[in-house]
Amino acid sequence: MASSNDRRHITCDICGRNDMQVDMLLTTATGGICKECAFRIYSIVDEAIDEGFILPSEFGKEPKKQVSCEKLNFTPKEITAFLDRFVIGQEEAKKFLSVAVYNHYKRINEVFKQNKKKKKASGKNGTLENEKSVLEVEKSNILLVGPTGTGKTLLAKSIAKMLNVPFAIVDATVLTEAGYVGEDVESILTRLLQAADYDVEKAERGIVFIDEIDKIARKSDNPSITRDVSGEGVQQAMLKLLEGTIVNVPPQGGRKHPEQKLISVNTTNILFICGGAFEGIEKRIAQRLNTHTVGYGASAKNARIDMDNLLQYIAPQDLRSYGLIPEIVGRMPVVTYLHPLDREALLRILTEPENALIKQYTRLFEMEDVKLTIDDEVLEFIVDTAIEYKLGARGLRAICEAIMLDPMYETPGSGKKEVHIGLDFAKAKVSNITSTL
Ligand code: ADP
Repeated sequence: MASSNDRRHITCDICGRNDMQVDMLLTTATGGICKECAFRIYSIVDEAIDEGFILPSEFGKEPKKQVSCEKLNFTPKEITAFLDRFVIGQEEAKKFLSVAVYNHYKRINEVFKQNKKKKKASGKNGTLENEKSVLEVEKSNILLVGPTGTGKTLLAKSIAKMLNVPFAIVDATVLTEAGYVGEDVESILTRLLQAADYDVEKAERGIVFIDEIDKIARKSDNPSITRDVSGEGVQQAMLKLLEGTIVNVPPQGGRKHPEQKLISVNTTNILFICGGAFEGIEKRIAQRLNTHTVGYGASAKNARIDMDNLLQYIAPQDLRSYGLIPEIVGRMPVVTYLHPLDREALLRILTEPENALIKQYTRLFEMEDVKLTIDDEVLEFIVDTAIEYKLGARGLRAICEAIMLDPMYETPGSGKKEVHIGLDFAKAKVSNITSTL
């Protein structure tokens, strides 16, 4: 740092004033930088971080709570690459999701820019000059169809993580029409508000994952049948949210707090990703395609293969014939499917994703300076057990926990530097839990 006593008269590289003219000058390799200029640069960088142009980590700063998503410009390919880090396989779903999410936030971006322009123009001269008619790009809510435990929630969660937007998961089965026992559809937005720390603006750009949407399908193909509480009525109520409307939301949810002040939330820019197993829908697809579901009931293997093949042809009319009302189907223009997870996929799930189970255990032991090694045949055994007991990817953790419990209990404080898990050990531990399945 130079002071006014410094004879060399260093000047600020940016504004050109010398150390006699400013109250503080930091020396640099080429000269100096005055306090005012340093502060101005800091403010510019800070603003750029706020607007999402610069990552806070690039400046060694803690990330701000939420980066405004208007400035986040990931290409669909970048979105898919991010999803690849956490979700194994499901290529078609990733592609559909990436494009839909990209377009969704591009659309928000456009609306945001237009609003900014309008504000500027009306601020300048009170009129809107050259106002271009804005092409209304409709939002594309997404429907993920696929067996339970194949990564639907994980995909939605990972997208929200990437975009750093508020995210809420809701189970459609708990929703009922207003006035019935259960949760009102508005509770979906209560969850989102909570995830956004009650920042309404952020919540209005968030993502909601509605799981098990197939469970609110109309129970009969006949639309004239008396309304069923959990089915069509809920779909009607949900329609408004999906379309985009202003909803008055009880901030604490439920009807237990009648005194709470309602918060208005506009759902126009909230992205809804719905998921469902739609069990049996392949028969409807087959009917529509006029194919025969050869192998159904003949062997489990054939049935699975047929379903794999048929789900890829899923179309809006299949969803309607399954019991979703046409308006809801119309509000989910992007429909994609997930594959059942085969042995190879389960093996990869164990070891490959960034937070894969085996990586987690290895890390846990590493923290104790212990090297964990697990034989490949143990990994195969874990997967085969999950398949045998139809536990799917969700079951992998329970099986791993059964194997790892004792080593995790015994090792700390034992002075051991290595833990090795072999097949016999794993089998003995797993037999304790499979005997109760
Ligand atoms: P669902 O399709 O029922 O929403 P989830 O996404 O909740 O299934 O998956 C349950 C768990 O199984 C996830 O948390 C994850 O650990 C694992 N899993 C399922 N599918 C995948 C996948 N394709 N890639 C990686 N992990 C997966």
